[in-house]
Amino acid sequence: MEITKNALNESNKLVKINNLISNLETIYSKIPSGECNGCAKCCMESVHAFYIEFLNIYDYVTKNDLLENVMEKVEDHYFNELVEVKPCPFLKEDKTCLIYPVRPLVCRLFGHATKEVHESNYAHILEQNKAADDYFFENYGVHLNDEVVFHKIEYCEQFYCEKPINENKKNEMIDDMFMIDTQFLMEDILSENMLNMSITNWFIYTKYAEEEASEKRISHLTNGK
Ligand code: SF4
Repeated sequence: MEITKNALNESNKLVKINNLISNLETIYSKIPSGECNGCAKCCMESVHAFYIEFLNIYDYVTKNDLLENVMEKVEDHYFNELVEVKPCPFLKEDKTCLIYPVRPLVCRLFGHATKEVHESNYAHILEQNKAADDYFFENYGVHLNDEVVFHKIEYCEQFYCEKPINENKKNEMIDDMFMIDTQFLMEDILSENMLNMSITNWFIYTKYAEEEASEKRISHLTNGK
């Protein structure tokens, strides 16, 4: 897994030909705005992003001369997130988002979920974290720290939205995003195992091949013990 310069160029051509940023913005425009108190407690981890979102964010940071700074933060996050809980690499010291105008769907939807859905998502994440802990213990003889395994973003009671959106609407948006990403699969720019990645992973794979990135991450984990 790697995102080469050639893959980025081919992706950007497809984005232009098929007007994909405009499609992305149409999906975002369906999310009702809400009021948030800016505590940034929901920004305490790296988040999922579709490939089209990564391209949009990559373009934004490049045009705003932020790439070097972003890569530094992304690398620090990616290589250390198994050792300690790290906030999203795009969260600034003043608790604002470095990429706010182009932030991913998952950030835009946070606060729109019911408490039940939020808790059920957390249960799923916890299961994955425990499975990861078992994997690292079996293969490398180290356990992940409890703060990493049990890390939880609490449900936000402060967020206010006049017209909350239901799960069906959210699922429709997610399907629409997948439809956009599928276009890169059909052009052989992406492979299927790349469809479900965090924003940190997308950036990391522009610089490191999967094996190299993974080795470096595991060495941080085993040396951190
Ligand atoms: S991308 Fe921005 S809004 Fe989303 S989690 Fe990171 S800092 Fe928060």
